[in-house]
Amino acid sequence: MTERLRQAVRERAHGHCEYCLAPDDHSSASFTIDHLQPRSAHGSDDLANLAWCCWNCNSHKAAALTALDPQTNQNVPLFHPRRDTWSEHFRWDEEQVHIEGITPIGRATVERLQMNEPAIVNLRRLLMLIDRHPPLLGSSQ
Ligand SMILES: [Zn+2]
Repeated sequence: MTERLRQAVRERAHGHCEYCLAPDDHSSASFTIDHLQPRSAHGSDDLANLAWCCWNCNSHKAAALTALDPQTNQNVPLFHPRRDTWSEHFRWDEEQVHIEGITPIGRATVERLQMNEPAIVNLRRLLMLIDRHPPLLGSSQ
């Protein structure tokens, strides 16, 4: 993958993870490129198959395309940043630091990607203090 392609993916995402919306300039681990259709399943390096992704979301997603909705126990597709709209599947809780899934896709994705791990929630609390959280882009994506 070329640096130019990597930059194009990053810019399209405004430097935020396309799943949990974490900002890449406040992360100790480098962000990565997520292949929506995994390479192992013949996913391409086409921009339409790529998403900007934090290390936590990427490592928990791995090559999964589906996951269990904890509410219905049904296997459903994971959130797809190119096809789905963030605010239609997720919202912030009252405290604004936990992501809640509001659809089967949202709930399954929160669970599978472990989007509310304690260290991540702690970081969101700190980012709130400098007006960097919640990011504004969730509502318009
Ligand atoms: Zn993430």
